Amino acid sequence: MEPLIRLADAALGYGKVRVLDGVTLEVYPGDYLGIVGPNGSGKTTLLKAILGLIRPLAGSVQIPSSEHIIGYVPQRDTLDTIFPLTVLDIVLMGLFDTLSPIGRPARRHIARAEQALEAAGIADLRDRHFGSLSGGQKQRTIIARALVADPKVLLLDEPTNGMDLPGETGILSLIRSLHDERNLTVLLVSHLLNTVINHARRIAFVANGRVETLDRSEVIASSKLSDIYGMDVEVTRHDHRYLVLPAANEGGQPA
Ligand code: ADP
Repeated sequence: MEPLIRLADAALGYGKVRVLDGVTLEVYPGDYLGIVGPNGSGKTTLLKAILGLIRPLAGSVQIPSSEHIIGYVPQRDTLDTIFPLTVLDIVLMGLFDTLSPIGRPARRHIARAEQALEAAGIADLRDRHFGSLSGGQKQRTIIARALVADPKVLLLDEPTNGMDLPGETGILSLIRSLHDERNLTVLLVSHLLNTVINHARRIAFVANGRVETLDRSEVIASSKLSDIYGMDVEVTRHDHRYLVLPAANEGGQPA
């Protein structure tokens, strides 16, 4: 099977500054890859390289398919809410390549946008102003905007940041169902390890200038997390879910 995304011994950074070195990563159809790491470790740099926004300083980054395959879901706060755009307007932006710059969207574009709204579970919000929505509704709108171009890969950058528990749970189950039912390949960037470990099949750890990718089972079974975080970390199971906790000797015990 041909990978959708392939990084081979890539050095990623800006000018002469290498943020990440020796990055080798292949993403295959049907994968669900979590990308975790501390702030400033290079997660966004890795995303930019995958999106083709920066070129590798060494090695290679390849997206072998020539089609538009990656649907990018940026952080919510990157969307300008000053303009009174409706949910439909925002989703239509995802078809930018196929809309003529001065023309009105054709009926078929609107039909595709409506399908994407349906897939994101917000068909009823079509005519609402984006600025008036809750965090979860905004996130669904941005996901619909990515889906409208019919991508193979959904690349989400911290999609649950700043959300309450119901909002976060709803977004994660939407992503899960897009992955399971539409066979979308998912790349999920998140600093929430407990989230990633329960959803992703594989986890790419971005830290200390390197990217190390492990299957979820390896992460759970080994002392890898303790090595990565430099402290004793335990993974426990509760009600079919995994919980990552600092070990008792690290002050993880309640007072
Ligand atoms: P993360 O997404 O994990 O928080 P980033 O990829 O944004 O990390 O940043 C990794 C490092 O790259 C940081 O030290 C940051 O200062 C640096 N960096 C990010 N963007 C640029 C840029 N445009 N020019 C120079 N350095 C940058």
